[in-house]
Amino acid sequence: MKQSNILLLGSIALDTIETSHGRRDDLLGGSATYAAISAGRFVKPNLVGIIGTDFPSAGKTILQNTCGNLDDLIEAEGPTFRWGGKYHENGDDRDTLFTELGVFADFSPSLSNENKNPDFIFLANIHPALQLRVLDQCDNEPVVVTDTMNLWIATSKDDLFKVMKRTDILLINESEVEDLTGMTDPGQSVKEIQSMGPKTVIVKHGSRGSTCYPENESFSIGVVPVETVIDPTGAGDSYGGGLVSGLAEGLTMKDAMIRGTAMASFCIEDFGVTAILNASDEDIASRISLLSS
Ligand code: AMP
Repeated sequence: MKQSNILLLGSIALDTIETSHGRRDDLLGGSATYAAISAGRFVKPNLVGIIGTDFPSAGKTILQNTCGNLDDLIEAEGPTFRWGGKYHENGDDRDTLFTELGVFADFSPSLSNENKNPDFIFLANIHPALQLRVLDQCDNEPVVVTDTMNLWIATSKDDLFKVMKRTDILLINESEVEDLTGMTDPGQSVKEIQSMGPKTVIVKHGSRGSTCYPENESFSIGVVPVETVIDPTGAGDSYGGGLVSGLAEGLTMKDAMIRGTAMASFCIEDFGVTAILNASDEDIASRISLLSS
């Protein structure tokens, strides 16, 4: 099977998370971290990001073991990005308690020569200006997979539109589709998004699975039933990481979505990245085959 290389940009964070199952402080988190660890179960992505001097050595070891190269992971003087979230009783909705940019405030990624020719680039959730900056430094034309969040739709639409213009595959939550287009009809709003750039749009429906809209068609994937959702943080990023790893290995879009879905199902079974790291290869294979049948 052909394997291409992946460049991955996003946040690397220390998260404080409260769910109905408890509270954890300073967990290894961030969009790029979840995506890298998920993808890293299959291929070794190369990471672009920044951490502060307070970043735990255990976290560094995990990233080292997960990634191909960390040439563009900068360690800067100052605190690591921190995010706090508290989930509602329904387990799905959440409030952001705090976002402390720390070293991300002055982050201006600069790609090493090694990383300037990726086959795939996964722009995980981060300010679209940073996503653009990384795209601008690629010497080739990689397949661009982009994830975003409602915050950027609300605050940085211009930059987001520029990123979307250069995006091949957009990952977006159901609610963000409406935020982005102002339209409620799923078919129409996806067409509107496709007219902004991405030929393929993957809409994530949370516990109801995901739908892929290539041009003029659509197909959906369900989820793996999970007995107890402990912490939903990072499910979308884990999905994205799994998906991109699949595409890089030459899987069909459907099989790549299945891989993403399987990885998201592990993610939510424990706090932080624990369950993605601990899942056995056999468990991963068995969830993929459950979704494929
Ligand atoms: P998700 O549950 O998919 O929204 O992803 C949660 C992860 O996104 C957490 O680990 C956070 O550290 C990270 N995160 C939260 N807010 C932001 C932000 N504004 N920019 C980048 N990453 C963020």
